[in-house]
Amino acid sequence: MHIGVDLDNTILDATTSHLRYYNLASGLSFTPEDVNDFYIYRLYGWDHAEREAVYTKYGHDIHWNSSPLPMAVEIMQYLYDRHQLSIITARPMLFREVTVEWLKRYKINYHNLTLIENKLQACITSNVDVLIDDGPHYAEEFALLNKPVILYEQPYNLSVTHEFVYRASNWIEVKQHIDYLESQQTSGKGAAFRKKYWRASAVR
Ligand SMILES: [Mg+2]
Repeated sequence: MHIGVDLDNTILDATTSHLRYYNLASGLSFTPEDVNDFYIYRLYGWDHAEREAVYTKYGHDIHWNSSPLPMAVEIMQYLYDRHQLSIITARPMLFREVTVEWLKRYKINYHNLTLIENKLQACITSNVDVLIDDGPHYAEEFALLNKPVILYEQPYNLSVTHEFVYRASNWIEVKQHIDYLESQQTSGKGAAFRKKYWRASAVR
């Protein structure tokens, strides 16, 4: 399978690192428990331009000082050995180098790295079979095309439900979903069976 996988708050804990530097920039002291919005900067009352200024200044340090989520490194290697693995992130090109270096730092292997705002288009163009992401809007867009999405659970995506959205609250569950999808693809079972599984998965 061709697997697309997001970085921020999917492979790594972006919330903690963003809060650290956003607190530094603002003098405020938010904690991860305060985050209930995909767009963390909105907690600080910043508009888009204010966020851009802070992100341009601290973005390198934010990304370099993020930690992988538990088991993400190990399971990324498992997926790399068995599938086509593309990291697809909405980070701007400005942070390509620190992204590549961070992936090296944690010995995370991948076949492609794409930095792009329009993830949906990137996934269609490169024939991605399944996307692993935490973004509620990406999950909804992808699921509308009847493509499976593994939604990495975060406080701001709990309300997303769709028959093609598989929820994973950790990387063990990500692996379980991928293994299941692979078994369905290789066994050649029909769409009806897959749909049944997706329905069951969506109501969990
Ligand atoms: Mg993300």
